[in-house]
Amino acid sequence: MSTDLERTLYTARLERKECISESAQCYHFEFVVDNVVDFPFTAGQFVSLVATDPSGKEQTRAYSIASAHNSGRSGNVRSGNILDLCANRTEGGFFSNFLADIPIGSIIDMHGPYGYFVLKQPVTDSILISTGTGIAPIRGFTQWLFPENGPDAGQDRSEGKEIWCVYGTRHESELYYREELEALAAKHPNFHYIPTLSRAGEEWSGLRGHVQEHVARIIEERAAKLGIALPLAPVDPAIRPNDLKFDINAYVCGLSNMITSVREKLASYGWHRKQIVAERYD
Ligand SMILES: Cc1cc2nc3c(=O)[nH]c(=O)nc-3n(C[C@H](O)[C@H](O)[C@H](O)COP(=O)(O)OP(=O)(O)OC[C@H]3O[C@@H](n4cnc5c(N)ncnc54)[C@H](O)[C@@H]3O)c2cc1C
Repeated sequence: MSTDLERTLYTARLERKECISESAQCYHFEFVVDNVVDFPFTAGQFVSLVATDPSGKEQTRAYSIASAHNSGRSGNVRSGNILDLCANRTEGGFFSNFLADIPIGSIIDMHGPYGYFVLKQPVTDSILISTGTGIAPIRGFTQWLFPENGPDAGQDRSEGKEIWCVYGTRHESELYYREELEALAAKHPNFHYIPTLSRAGEEWSGLRGHVQEHVARIIEERAAKLGIALPLAPVDPAIRPNDLKFDINAYVCGLSNMITSVREKLASYGWHRKQIVAERYD
C-alpha cells in the first residue's frame, strides 16, 4: 500500500475466480485487499484497477464492486477486506481481457472506493435496473439489503419496501447471478427478480424485450394499486432540491443506450430526475 497526494494505492490478491457465462465470457472475481483488515465502501461504489498494457502504458479502468462490505463468503467471520467484481470480455479491449485471463493468486493495483451510485437513505421502494455486467453494483445493493454472509447475516435492511430487480440480457445463459437472485426472491416476498431477454430462444418462458418495457409495467401497476394518476404531477419548483423526498427511486446501471431509454421512459411518467440514480459504463 503506498500513498500519494491524491489517493491510496492498494494491492489486491485474486482469491477466487469463476466463469459465470461461457457464451458472454463473463467472470466473477473475489479479491482480498492486502495489508488492511478492513476496506470500507458503500454498496454500489466502484474501484479503479491499474495495470500496464503490452505497449508499456499504464491503464486504469473502473469496476463496480459486486458485493456489499463485509459480505465475504467466510460464513460469519469478519471479511471486511474482500470485494467481488464481475467483468465480461470486451472485443478489442485491454483491461477486460487482461482480467479475464489472470490466474488465481495474481496481485493487482487498485484505488478507491469511488462513486455516488449508492442507495438513498432511508430506503424507499426501489427499482434496480441493469443489463449485462451492470448487475454488479445491483448485487452489492441486494447483499446490503438482505445480508446472507458476514457479521450482519440474517438482517433485513429493506424495511419492508418493495425492491424490483429488473435485469436484461440477450440470452438465458447471460443471466449472471441468476440462482442467487432467484433464491433471494424466494426468501423475501418484497424482493422481486424480473429477468428479461431480448433475444430469447423458443424454450424461454419468462419475460422478453428490453428492461424499460418492464419498468413501465411496474410503474403502471404500482400507480393503479395506489390510485395514483400518471403522469405524475410536476414537482413544485418552490421545493428546494435537498428537501425533495420521493417514495420510490430508480437505480440504473449499464451501457449508455439503455440508461437513456430508461430515463426517457421514467420521464414520460413524470418522474423527477432526482429520482433516478445512474451509473454509465461507457
Ligand atoms: C463507474 C464504472 C463502473 C464500471 N463497472 C464495470 C463492471 O463492474 N464490469 C464491467 O465489465 N465493466 C465495468 N465498467 C467498464 C470498464 O471500466 C471497462 O470500460 C470495460 O471492462 C472495457 O474495458 P477494456 O479496456 O477491455 O476496453 P475499452 O477499450 O476500455 O472499451 C471498449 C468499449 O467497450 C464498451 N464497454 C465498456 N464496458 C463494457 C461492458 N461491461 N460490456 C460491454 N461493453 C463495454 C465501451 O463502449 C467501450 O468504449 C465500468 C465503467 C465505469 C465507468
